[in-house]
Amino acid sequence: MSSEKFLDKKTLKKLDEKLQFLISKDGLDRKTQDEVFDKSALKILEKLISNRILKILDFPISTGKEGNVFRGVTPEKKLVAVKIYRISTSTFKHITKYIIGDPRFNSIHLSKRDIIFAWTKKEYKNLERLKKFKINAPKPIISIKNVLVMQYIGYKNKPAPLLKDVKLDKPKQTFDIIIKSISDMYKKAGLVHGDLSSYNILMFKNKPYIIDLGPGVLIEHPNSHEFLKRDIYNIVYHFKKYKIKADEQKIYNKITNKKES
Ligand code: ADP
Ligand code: MN
Repeated sequence: MSSEKFLDKKTLKKLDEKLQFLISKDGLDRKTQDEVFDKSALKILEKLISNRILKILDFPISTGKEGNVFRGVTPEKKLVAVKIYRISTSTFKHITKYIIGDPRFNSIHLSKRDIIFAWTKKEYKNLERLKKFKINAPKPIISIKNVLVMQYIGYKNKPAPLLKDVKLDKPKQTFDIIIKSISDMYKKAGLVHGDLSSYNILMFKNKPYIIDLGPGVLIEHPNSHEFLKRDIYNIVYHFKKYKIKADEQKIYNKITNKKES
C-alpha cells in the first residue's frame, strides 16, 4: 500500500537532490520540505517537471492542516498554484463528512489514500465545471493523485488576498457577483460549493474568485441543499459588516426556484 514499493532509496535520494533545485533557496525550510513532500508527492512533482508543466516551486502560499498550496512557475514562466493534499488521518477525517452520501465514493474497497486521491480529482473536476460555465475560479491544469495544479490568482509578488482580509470598495457589487456565482454553480453547473465563506474567496482586481472546491457536491447529493443554505448564510453574514441586508431564505428560494413562503 505504501509508496515505498515503487521508490527505492537511491531514486529517492536523486529526487531529493532535484528538489533542492526545484525549490528556490529561501522558499522552504528543511522541516517543511520533509513534512510536505512525502515520497509519492515528490514523484508526482518530478513527473510534472519532466512533462514541462512545472519548472520550479517558488514559495508556499498556504500551509494548512489538510494540505499546502505553493506557487509554481512553468517553463513558459507562467505562474501556477500547486495544491498538495496531505495524506493523513486528519485530511481523511475532514473529507469523510462530505463524502458520506456521494455515490461516487461508494466503494468500500477504497483505502484512505485512494479516497484522498479521489477527493483531489473531485476538486479538479469541479473546477472544470466552473470553467465550462464561466464562473470565476482558478482554471484547472492537471491533477495527479493528491496534487492539483491550477491557475494562480494573484500578483507577481503576492497571491490575491482572501475576501475576509480585504476592505471592499464596492461591497454590494461584490456581494451580487458572489450570489450570482452560487446561483450559476447550482443552476448551470449543477454544483454546490459546500464550504463557501469569506475564507474561500480570493479578491483579485476587484473580482471574487471561488476556491477550495474539494467539498463541492452535485445537487443530487442528499445534503446539497443543506450545504447550499449554509453557503448562502456564510456570505450574507460576511456582508452584514458592510450593512448589506439580504434575506437568505429569499436568495435560497430564488436559486432553487422555490415559491416564496
Ligand atoms: P485549504 O483551505 O483546504 O487549505 P484552499 O484551496 O482554500 O485549501 O487553499 C489554501 C490557501 O491557498 C487559500 O486560502 C489561498 O490563500 C491560497 N490559494 C489557493 N488556491 C489559490 C490559487 N489558485 N491562487 C492563489 N492562491 C491560492
Ligand atoms: Mn480553504
